[in-house]
Amino acid sequence: MTCTKQRLTILGATGSIGTNTLDVVARHPEQYEVFALSAHQRIEALAAQCLQWRPRFAAVADEAGARRLRALLADAGCATEVMSGPQALCELAAHPDVDAVMAAIVGAAGLAPCLAAARAGKRLLLANKEALVVGGALFMDAVHAGGATLLPIDSEHSAIFQCLPDDRAAWPARIDHIILTASGGPFRQRDPATLAAVTPQEACAHPNWVMGRKISVDSATMMNKALEVIEARWLFELQPQQIRVVIHPQSIIHSMVVCRDRSVLAQLGTPDMRVPIAVGLAHPQRIESGAELLDFTRLSALTFEEPDPQRFPGLQLAFDALQGPEGSTAVLNAANEEAVAAFLDGTIGFTDIHRVNAATIERVLPSLPAQPALQDLLALDERARAQARHFVKGMAT
Ligand code: NAD
Ligand code: MG
Repeated sequence: MTCTKQRLTILGATGSIGTNTLDVVARHPEQYEVFALSAHQRIEALAAQCLQWRPRFAAVADEAGARRLRALLADAGCATEVMSGPQALCELAAHPDVDAVMAAIVGAAGLAPCLAAARAGKRLLLANKEALVVGGALFMDAVHAGGATLLPIDSEHSAIFQCLPDDRAAWPARIDHIILTASGGPFRQRDPATLAAVTPQEACAHPNWVMGRKISVDSATMMNKALEVIEARWLFELQPQQIRVVIHPQSIIHSMVVCRDRSVLAQLGTPDMRVPIAVGLAHPQRIESGAELLDFTRLSALTFEEPDPQRFPGLQLAFDALQGPEGSTAVLNAANEEAVAAFLDGTIGFTDIHRVNAATIERVLPSLPAQPALQDLLALDERARAQARHFVKGMAT
């Protein structure tokens, strides 16, 4: 029997999810082939990956970066073809020789290549939750029209996915509601009066997961869970009231499905993103991920608590946005991306993130045509960013 390898494009290869993906792929050289890799700014890191994996293509943000990468690869005798710009990401996501696309870019910048992969009918491994939060119905329509297979990589959504049957048509009749677990991040128990003064370094020090800086800040504000609520709404076609959130500080239960008959299904494991990545890569098979085994005898307790709406006001913004006019979630995401960037570069304080998000949502009323095109969503995204930057300016410390 001949076994054909799955050819992979990894968008955002130098990031936390990208490098974890390559770690899993390296364990299965007979099953996967790296077809293309992309990175935004970290040219040296991408060059090292190209030398190791010898992909057919690599893509970077701009032509200056591409020239640097070409020079590094030429010196090392690597024949990888280097492309640049946002259009290159779309081409590599939709290339006819690609089987699966790992979407591990951070932020709404991932939307266009995700849509390209969806329309081209690829296996789309979606880590880039912001793309779905912004794209919403447009994204899901592209998945259906292109006949793509959408596989969630976010650990919570992978957990839900693993608790459901392969037949998606059976999901609505089966699910009463889902429970997304949240760690509560580094500030779960910190005195709220001290939150305004926390530093980016403190906010990025997550107790259970090692992740990129933007999602680490989102975990500290719980905006990550807010985005995940919206993500779940689309992935599993749920009503907002079918999505609940509970804090589970140990991050062992990755999420749960409560069935119509009140049976609760949970997926457990050590907090290691290589597990949901391996699930996505191999589905419906299972492959070795490299994660440690969960040792139940060493678990002290599994505890649960209600998220405090005063401490984590962003969660409610997500539920409100889901009830609002189409495009509301795109506005929330755009505001949050700008606010987090401003916090990370020291322009605003930690608690200002929520203020920017709430003010932007209140100010920018989304007005989208009935079936918005990508340009409509991107224009709305840009309008919300401009407004958020205006609020950031007014708050700058
Ligand atoms: P990261 O910051 O570590 O990596 C981001 C990657 O995207 C990098 O390769 C970077 O070069 C690339 N990139 C950044 N901006 C870009 C742009 N404008 N255009 C093209 N490429 C760009 O982020 P991460 O932690 O790996 O997260 C990636 C995505 O996965 C995010 O959407 C995040 O929410 C999601 N996710 C991450 C984790 C995790 O454990 N890290 C878990 C669940 C979901
Ligand atoms: Mg998650």
